[in-house]
Amino acid sequence: MSDHLTTDRTDPTTAFDCPSCGTSSAGGPRDHCPQCLHTRHRDPADPCGAPMAPLAVAVHGPGDWRLIHRCTACATLTSAPVRADDHQVALMALAVRPLAQPPFPLGLLGRI
Ligand SMILES: [Zn+2]
Ligand SMILES: [Zn+2]
Repeated sequence: MSDHLTTDRTDPTTAFDCPSCGTSSAGGPRDHCPQCLHTRHRDPADPCGAPMAPLAVAVHGPGDWRLIHRCTACATLTSAPVRADDHQVALMALAVRPLAQPPFPLGLLGRI
């Protein structure tokens, strides 16, 4: 993965106010919403500021999940580690989305 995908957007000094659902999280570093997993595009080199929607979960190693976000304004992709207090159902829904919406009929699997 290139550097721009692993930019650390964590700012431990400020609370995180979700641009999507309005959840406000204080206390400790946090770069995305624990409820709906959205974040805000905060790249020092690109003051975009638009909401970023969770796109997928990437696995970097056993038990090492990262959230992939896509900016709703400029389509930039970023990634950030999931946190212990992230909404687990929301994470799982994101992780199984490709399996729930395959680009081919599931009946084909019986013939492989
Ligand atoms: Zn939210
Ligand atoms: Zn952006």
